[in-house]
Amino acid sequence: MSNFIIRKVAVLGAGVMGAQIAAHCANADVPVLLFDLPAKDGKPNAIVDKALAGLKKLDPAPLAAKDRAGFIDAANYGADLDKLRECDLIIEAIAEKMEWKLDLYAKVAPFIRPDAVFASNTSGLSINRLAEGMPAALRGRFCGIHFFNPPRYMSLVELIATRDTEAAMLDQLESWLTTRLGKSIVRAKDTPNFVANRVGVFSILAVMHHTARLGLGFDEVDGLTGPLIGRPKSATYRTADVVGLDTLAHVVGTMQATLPDDPWHAHFTVPEWLQALIAKGALGQKTRAGIYRKEGKQIQVLDLKTGDYRPSAGDVIPAVETMLKTKDPVERFSLLAASELLEAQFLWSIFRDVFHYCAVHLGDIADSARDIDLAMRWGFGWAQGPFETWQAADWSEIAKAIQLDIDHGRAMAKVPLPAWVFERTGVHEAGGSYSATGNALKPRRDLPVYKRQLYPEQVLGEAPAERGETLWENEGVRLWTRPDQDARIGILSFRSKQHAIGDEVLDGLLEAVARAETDLDGLVLWHPAPFAVGANLYQVVEACKAGKFDMLERTVAKFQRASMTLKHAQVPVVAAIQGLALGGGCEFAMHSAHRVLALESYVGLVEAGVGLIPAGGGSKEFALQAHYLAQKAAGGDVFPFIQNSFQTVAMATVAKSALEAVQLGFAKPTDDVVFHPQELLYVGIRRARALAESGYRPPLVQRAVTVAGRNGIATCELMLVNMAEGGFISPYDYKVAKAAATALCGGEVETNSRVSEEWILDVERALFVDLLRQEKTQQRIAHTLETGKPLRN
Ligand code: NAD
Repeated sequence: MSNFIIRKVAVLGAGVMGAQIAAHCANADVPVLLFDLPAKDGKPNAIVDKALAGLKKLDPAPLAAKDRAGFIDAANYGADLDKLRECDLIIEAIAEKMEWKLDLYAKVAPFIRPDAVFASNTSGLSINRLAEGMPAALRGRFCGIHFFNPPRYMSLVELIATRDTEAAMLDQLESWLTTRLGKSIVRAKDTPNFVANRVGVFSILAVMHHTARLGLGFDEVDGLTGPLIGRPKSATYRTADVVGLDTLAHVVGTMQATLPDDPWHAHFTVPEWLQALIAKGALGQKTRAGIYRKEGKQIQVLDLKTGDYRPSAGDVIPAVETMLKTKDPVERFSLLAASELLEAQFLWSIFRDVFHYCAVHLGDIADSARDIDLAMRWGFGWAQGPFETWQAADWSEIAKAIQLDIDHGRAMAKVPLPAWVFERTGVHEAGGSYSATGNALKPRRDLPVYKRQLYPEQVLGEAPAERGETLWENEGVRLWTRPDQDARIGILSFRSKQHAIGDEVLDGLLEAVARAETDLDGLVLWHPAPFAVGANLYQVVEACKAGKFDMLERTVAKFQRASMTLKHAQVPVVAAIQGLALGGGCEFAMHSAHRVLALESYVGLVEAGVGLIPAGGGSKEFALQAHYLAQKAAGGDVFPFIQNSFQTVAMATVAKSALEAVQLGFAKPTDDVVFHPQELLYVGIRRARALAESGYRPPLVQRAVTVAGRNGIATCELMLVNMAEGGFISPYDYKVAKAAATALCGGEVETNSRVSEEWILDVERALFVDLLRQEKTQQRIAHTLETGKPLRN
């Protein structure tokens, strides 16, 4: 099979989804043509231009770096249809109307190359009907490609084949979406609203039904249907506000119109109160009022009893909270089902009806139970899908309880559970997940692309993943290999909570590198996210309280030694980063021979937030970077290069993506950015191997680093004086920032002095320990540990 190459993408429709899909392609280094209708007046591309400007303001940001917008070209159907011939993949994302989409297909079809892929982002229209709008010659390369909003952050893409879609093309598209865009694919059947929305919207309708039946408040229900049951904080009603109440009503409308035979059809309506909100133009977040609204600082929620808004509370009664926090799922569910409390009955009811719905529809809508569970995790952010939740809670007992409720008219539909439910004790097993169509277990899809995911996300009950071979371990780390991948590339994983770096991690790291130098060809620093939240502040606070500053100084020295060991190890050390890499985590990353970063990496030197400066070599690395950059610049002045890093460190700026991490100097342009986080370890191992094979040599420890010295510190101070006078920073912020400036400038030495790396490390360390002795720093640390937030004192 030939390679699947997408040199350029066209996105048709610059609305909410189209513009963001374009942004994500640009994130992945794919140039994009973004089309919309020609504007009626003014510049013909005005609609797209506005969408492009909007991309830079959206939160969470669709662009992984602002300059990516420059790789999206505006186009319109009036002037630019010819340019479609340049595009290998065309994604249609215009308004959800069959006739409009078909009209557009007729217009663009003559300009689409026969080898291009054309796909619709429709959320629920029939893909087979849409395909009829394409000329027969293009139908083999037409399919559904359903992204979730926001497309950069929601992992799920549903792929939907038509009767005519070429199987090989779809496999290639699945592989491309996985590796290039980092998406997680579920193959959906061509049924209304596909998989995730079909179940997810039913779940919202079930929540609404039982909220009304039991007379609960919307905020109360959000308290019950959020993180306590493993779902996002926005729970149910706040999610509806975010999605848009009109959009939600539209999707429910599609279900009502297209699923006349669904046993739950009577429930596919939008409650009156919701219709009333829509009629008033209160559509949720986008109109600043919906089920919730903000009055000044107060969040208010609609109260159906009064028809007006009231302050939102959302507390969960302790008895129910205790039930939900019961570890054993079997016990948890039996407590809920047996309780007389309204809240507990509510929870049992919403689970029961979703389980019932999924069991009845499994055969029609999905290839296997795993696809439904993964679709709900990836598309709706549930920690577990419905089938896994059911299976964990004792499949057979729950099945009996559901059937009992159906028989007594308590469930939302009368249709019995399918017979297969009673013939099994679960749907997920080591051998695969149950498929109702085939009445058999289905294994995972085995496209070559999935070999790149050494630890794919698993549903409950699947065969445990290969643990690898442990070479050595202590309390803080495990050094191991995956001999099936590469028996001589070690993997170093931290074992601490949030992968914080304490004494046992430092000891472990030093020992592991020594072992790698003797026994292995390379090392990958990898564990699931977060990469590391920084130094273990609990240990620091304890030592401060006990006045053990000498010991602290020794620990900082060990930290520096650990960083230098990573950098100067005789075998290449590759840091495989995903999620947070803060403080010491960032310093370890900066000192590694090479970095592979998941796109969603949040990297920063945030020490200033707790009244400290980077002292695990982070300040030194920035000083060194300035030295190298200045060598290439006219005049050779280092200060201009220090200035940026000074701001980054003083403001504790965190890169919001791997691309920003490169821009801020935490990573290098030559590092690898990996879009699918589950491919990180695979790439890390191969990068370490490639470095080893190309005759890796560690860099020399520099002896003559040109530093900005006194003048540099003075210039940084000038900035600080202005900020202090403007009231932007406190006197203590000033002190901390000055310490950062001093370290970055190599200490109080003559400007342009040449110092060794060790010298700068000594400066860092002395300033750090001095700050640790200050009461205000100790207060900041204590506050952050208690609240998770910085303290401005
Ligand atoms: P939107 O309303 O934000 O944007 C639609 C775009 O289509 C606009 O830019 C508009 O100018 C253009 N358009 C309207 N009529 C047109 C016509 N007759 N011909 C050509 N262009 C026309 O919509 P959206 O939310 O981005 O949705 C786009 C598609 O993506 C829909 O099929 C929708 O179902 C699907 N979708 C939406 C979401 C979501 O959360 N919004 C999620 C997944 C899929």
